Amino acid sequence: MAGRLEGKAAVITGAGRGIGEAIARAFVREGARVAIAERDETNGQAVAASLAGEDRRAIFVRCDVADPEAAKASVAASLSQFGRLDILVNNAGVNVFHAPLETDADEWRRCFAINLEGAWRMAKAALPAMLASGSGSVINIASAHSFSIIPGCFPYPVAKHGLLGLTRALGVEYAAQGVRVNAIAPGYVETQIALDYWNTFPDPAAERQRAYDLHPPKRIGRPDEVAMTAVFLASDEAPFINAACIVIDGGRSVLYHD
Ligand code: NAP
Repeated sequence: MAGRLEGKAAVITGAGRGIGEAIARAFVREGARVAIAERDETNGQAVAASLAGEDRRAIFVRCDVADPEAAKASVAASLSQFGRLDILVNNAGVNVFHAPLETDADEWRRCFAINLEGAWRMAKAALPAMLASGSGSVINIASAHSFSIIPGCFPYPVAKHGLLGLTRALGVEYAAQGVRVNAIAPGYVETQIALDYWNTFPDPAAERQRAYDLHPPKRIGRPDEVAMTAVFLASDEAPFINAACIVIDGGRSVLYHD
């Protein structure tokens, strides 16, 4: 049976580990060819090498999404390697967590350069090829922070709210030309970014348990659970889903607290 993404080519940012790596693995499993657009060369090369196979189904492209030239070059490299571009996953992201008045200008800029402008830069580079072919799917990895505010996490939620705005604006703008733009908003997912966050607390194990308890299933999400939804949105199974955001948080966001 043909894979659900057979014949399609994708660029996935930050795919050297975590959620991006899981998406890359799921996409290749479903028949896609993928460009691992990652700034960490060691991780990016390793993931690409493990997925490439004899027909070079995966390539590594060094890409810091905060660098406008690197973003353009990574789209160009995957276009020249695969001859087409059907899917862009804007996954690269960093936690930038401060109290608002303790956020200096460099931290503000770093947060927006990666979490919001990086996604726009990549979309700007990728959209012309999608519009030329008359079809495409852009998937932005948003967050629970796209809807809710946790004190002390500034300005990350400002950028993630913006990413939702970018999703809606581009989705409306290009739908008639065959390009869908959607977001996935995960709750807590067990990746390095989460481990690093727990490690900022005096008792990381207690903080991990606290995160589990916040979610109705009493656990947090796994990267492959986000990847399954990315496959669905990237496939031809979601033709009328556009400018939408799928929340994957085990029900945490609707849980009533008294
Ligand atoms: P992760 O484990 O830290 O992986 C992120 C990957 O992106 C890393 O390989 C990282 O490389 C790379 N990256 C960071 N900045 C980059 C840049 N400027 N250009 C290219 N690559 C870059 O994070 P994750 O948990 O998988 O998160 C992936 C996405 O999901 C992020 O957008 C995050 O905000 C979002 N998210 C995560 C969670 C969660 O609980 N894990 C929840 C909601 C949303 P380096 O090692 O060099 O930094």
